[in-house]
Amino acid sequence: MKVFKFGGASVNSVERVQKLGEILSHYPDEQLLIVVSAMGKTTNALEKVAEAFFAGKQEEALSLFKVVKDQHLTTAKYLLVTQALACEAQLADFFTEAEWLLHDQPVREFDYYYDQIVCIGELLSTAIVSHYLNEAGYRNKWLDVRDIIRTDDHFREAVIDWDFTAQKVAKMKELFATERILLTQGFIGSTDENESTTLGREGSDYTAAVFANLLDAENQTIWKDVPSVMNADPRHYPEAQPLPELNYAEVIEMAYYGAQVIHPKTIKPLQNKDIPLQVKCFLDPSLPGTIIHDEAVKGLPPIIVVKEQQVLLELRSRDFSFVAEQHAGTLYHMLESLLIKPNLTQNAAISFLCVVDDHAEKIEKLALEASQLFDVQVIRDLSLLTVRHYTPASLEQLLKDKTVILRQQTPDTIQVLVR
Ligand code: ASP
Ligand code: MG
Repeated sequence: MKVFKFGGASVNSVERVQKLGEILSHYPDEQLLIVVSAMGKTTNALEKVAEAFFAGKQEEALSLFKVVKDQHLTTAKYLLVTQALACEAQLADFFTEAEWLLHDQPVREFDYYYDQIVCIGELLSTAIVSHYLNEAGYRNKWLDVRDIIRTDDHFREAVIDWDFTAQKVAKMKELFATERILLTQGFIGSTDENESTTLGREGSDYTAAVFANLLDAENQTIWKDVPSVMNADPRHYPEAQPLPELNYAEVIEMAYYGAQVIHPKTIKPLQNKDIPLQVKCFLDPSLPGTIIHDEAVKGLPPIIVVKEQQVLLELRSRDFSFVAEQHAGTLYHMLESLLIKPNLTQNAAISFLCVVDDHAEKIEKLALEASQLFDVQVIRDLSLLTVRHYTPASLEQLLKDKTVILRQQTPDTIQVLVR
């Protein structure tokens, strides 16, 4: 059995949904579990609905939601003939689920409403794709993943209850006795009180990996709109090259430093069961793509990851007390309690440097708290370049025209903060 994951870009138009059917034609006999994201930018659009609702702007929320509704109804209309009515009825159920909530007043926390509203994106897209595939001859069974993936109630970053979910997946697996293709949503789950949850943005890769793990899948394929994983972002580095092969550790490192290749949580469930991950291009399935597995991969080119909008916090002790002796613990504790994940830290005798993403509100809080002990300086608009397997030539090329502010290196990896 194989697990396929199709992202938002692979289902964002009538043609692309049709393309998905064509891809399945290359796998006529395989048992497949297919995980699908929300169409195109639907999740972003639903985030706006949630924000308007929570701000008390009910009219605006409803009219933003209507745009999402109409887009899906139009897509369904173009795609479907025999399944059109059945699909519309299913979509209508989800519309009602959302509108019912939007007509209320918010009384709980924002993150709860966010999840109840945003999860609709995946429900709508999978309903349409499933009906389309059935009509196109790829018989499949649609499943509401909220009946399978059980999570805690940490809305927007819900944590999976593996034991409960494993039992549900075992039940689901029995369906393969009569069905060749099961199709469900990525990114969403549900609490034990049937409240919808989400697993963090771009979480569908992770959902697919959870299923691959629990189903002991032969492999997982993520279908993307790029030919393969590249060693740099081709939009910024025209000389970027494809990476045909990577190992799990490399991908975890890349994701950690900010490469937007694969959701960072995806690798662990696969690595734990030694399940290979393929990244393939849905626009041209004949391309080899990238294969990610456990074995060491030799001869990798420099892999470049860029994080923009970085902030350097420079904390200096006022009374010449050594940072490491007096305050290191306090500093890390402050970062942890504000849920700030430093992208790079460095400490000298009386100063501590820390590079973080630009979450203005959190940084302000941190600066305020830290200013009781330190002189605090905040420098914005920087970029953090990380290069794995760097060479002198690659660094020279990368750093020309840049002002280097901070640099940290190991034999494997160099990180350079630049302006
Ligand atoms: N639709 C969700 C998002 O855009 C999940 C995903 O695409 O993986 O974040
Ligand atoms: Mg996506």
